[in-house]
Amino acid sequence: MNGLPARRLLLVHAHPDDESINNGVTMAKYAAQGAHVTLVTCTLGEEGEVIPPGLAHLAADRDDSLGTHRVGELAAAMAELGVTDHRFLGGAGRYRDSGMMGAPQNRRPEAFWSADVDEAAAFLVEVIREVRPQVLVTYDPHGGYGHPDHIQAHRVAMRAAELAAETAYRRDLGEPHAIGKIYWNRVPRSVVEEGFAKLRAAVGIEAPFPGMASPEDVPGVVPDETITAEIEAPEELVAAKAAAMRAHATQIAVDGPFFALSNDLAQPLFACEYYELVAGRPGAPAGERERDLFAGVAA
Ligand SMILES: [Zn+2]
Repeated sequence: MNGLPARRLLLVHAHPDDESINNGVTMAKYAAQGAHVTLVTCTLGEEGEVIPPGLAHLAADRDDSLGTHRVGELAAAMAELGVTDHRFLGGAGRYRDSGMMGAPQNRRPEAFWSADVDEAAAFLVEVIREVRPQVLVTYDPHGGYGHPDHIQAHRVAMRAAELAAETAYRRDLGEPHAIGKIYWNRVPRSVVEEGFAKLRAAVGIEAPFPGMASPEDVPGVVPDETITAEIEAPEELVAAKAAAMRAHATQIAVDGPFFALSNDLAQPLFACEYYELVAGRPGAPAGERERDLFAGVAA
């Protein structure tokens, strides 16, 4: 269909950098295998805090030009991952980054948190009907950690998947398409605990960052048995993920197997990525994790 590769993966994220942190390995792996990987980012991340002091002037409370700068960071990250199809929901700047829950900027009319879910979903339906992905990856209903834009990205992605398949819905947006499998980003508790144990052991030897985050700071942590899929990749693709994260220089500092956000608190960089299948048939026997998000889907 449309001359696109046989396997097509769509990821929906709130801000530039979320894709690299959550799915960098997965995106690089499928892109390297020749699958069509599409990233839709819902906002430009205008409200983010800025790490490098030399770029502090970009922040929303100063020049308010961080969004434009992050468009460039995202493009550089995609180049590291080998992903060529990345878009902003409704076009760059259609929706603005909201602040944390309760922040006054969430009430701005252009804030993604204030967006009408069906209206925002229509933009995504158009992408779904064009690209016709078999697999969709997004956040859980809590957005992983409760950020309003992440919650909204979840709502919009789930609603768009539903509307895209409806035969009577907006034929002007393309032929109906039902996505075969939907996954939420997850991290198993045992992996988080192990990651932080390694981090604690490293502090004092490498002392990567001034402080340390805690396992509670990691989004989407669930009991191990909730995980239904894990995506591993060779070392060079883990390096591509680290390079993509580094490309988001205003947001992320990477040091070896650790990274920190603007809070300067170290956390582990996960080389393996985990998912929970929430719609569609599992491609692995009961009790076993899938090793391929496309397992069991017809091309
Ligand atoms: Zn985010």
